[in-house]
Amino acid sequence: MTEKLDVAIIGAGQAGLATSWYLKQAGVDHVVLEAGRVAETWRTRRWDSFCLVTPNWSVKLPGGEYSGPDPDGYMSLAQLVDHFQGWADSFDAPVRGQSEVTALEPDGDGFALTVGGRKLQARTVVVASGGYQRAHVPPGADKVPSGVTSLLAEQYTNPDALRPGAVLIVGSGQTGCQLAEELHESGRKVILACGRCSWAPRRFGGHDIVWWVVESGFWNRTLDQLPSPAMRLLGNVQASGHDGGHDLHHRVLAQKGVELVGRYQGAEGRTIGFADDLNQTLAACDGLAALIKKYVDDLCGRRGLTHDWEMPPPMTLEARTLVDVDREGISTVIWTSGYRPDYGWVRFPVFDDMGFPVQVDGRTAVPGLYFMGVHYQRKVQSAVIYGAGEDAEIVARHIVENRR
Ligand SMILES: Cc1cc2nc3c(=O)[nH]c(=O)nc-3n(C[C@H](O)[C@H](O)[C@H](O)COP(=O)(O)OP(=O)(O)OC[C@H]3O[C@@H](n4cnc5c(N)ncnc54)[C@H](O)[C@@H]3O)c2cc1C
Repeated sequence: MTEKLDVAIIGAGQAGLATSWYLKQAGVDHVVLEAGRVAETWRTRRWDSFCLVTPNWSVKLPGGEYSGPDPDGYMSLAQLVDHFQGWADSFDAPVRGQSEVTALEPDGDGFALTVGGRKLQARTVVVASGGYQRAHVPPGADKVPSGVTSLLAEQYTNPDALRPGAVLIVGSGQTGCQLAEELHESGRKVILACGRCSWAPRRFGGHDIVWWVVESGFWNRTLDQLPSPAMRLLGNVQASGHDGGHDLHHRVLAQKGVELVGRYQGAEGRTIGFADDLNQTLAACDGLAALIKKYVDDLCGRRGLTHDWEMPPPMTLEARTLVDVDREGISTVIWTSGYRPDYGWVRFPVFDDMGFPVQVDGRTAVPGLYFMGVHYQRKVQSAVIYGAGEDAEIVARHIVENRR
């Protein structure tokens, strides 16, 4: 017998669980189908020393708000996973673990889901399978010289797990900067191939940067406010939550002794090539930081606040464009070059040419098919913990008001 579900949510991260919480409050029968366990992505796709980059107070999950003793701190991975599990347990979230949905297809005016070879039927489906799905590597990633280990950021665990030697990190978003710092501090030589990303001081004017981006409306920006849709692939602001939180961006890393180079361009023989674009990249990063600062300055103007964030003079560096892996002793390349959507198993024509679902407030053109946790689903904050609750409430309300 095919099991019939009223509502199926796919994914038990913050996006799926927040939706589940609102449906529970409304008394809507539903199931959360999860490939692994609650918070699986946090459990298995982060490095050992990971801790939140966003402060604990910004964990405003519905029914799962942070209420511990350190609101201005940044939870460790273990604390975060405990927090998610405790939250799911607190409202008895109907999560079915080890239930990967391998196909989602039309079935009359409803949906057929394939889970472990079994078919389920659902009248309504919320796809909450992750904001950061498939790790992206740049063209030429397959040209890394033989004998050099190639790792995705999500496969990296800690410095001791790497073979001895220097490390090339490709990508300088939040993750690339944090891995560069950790590996440099462990005594390794680190080369960081830089891309464009915004940065900001961790704290200024008496507040954390996340307070500023929330209060100033920077995190309320919508997709149509971006100069191009491709800009939604840009990483979050470079900063770290480690050791109580600190600044972590290109200037900090260069000062510490991490070697910065331009974009990775592939390899020939034993030599890896980098674009001669480091200084343009650094200038572009300052431009992105200046945009945040404009929001901050405007907020200060409106509320009579002050702050002490001064933009530093432009940073220019001499950068190598060719590096011989043997001479440098490079044993490992770590790719931290972003993510792309990966909805190949969702067999509905609801995706744009970048692979993102076309949706308004989470609703697609297919009645009963919703998405959660998409980049810029409604706003910048849609794909971070802070924003999950607001979007989930809207999706859940629409489901309740349009019961099928
Ligand atoms: C390295 C990194 C660091 C981050 N740090 C922060 C931070 O400090 N603060 C912050 O607010 N945000 C951070 N984010 C952004 C964001 O909060 C996380 O990516 C978060 O995990 C997104 O939540 P989600 O629920 O959308 O997706 P996920 O947490 O990825 O949850 C999706 C779930 O769906 C499951 N799933 C996927 N496909 C299927 C399927 N076909 N069938 C069944 N189950 C499926 C997965 O197993 C997973 O459990 C970070 C992101 C990255 C990549």
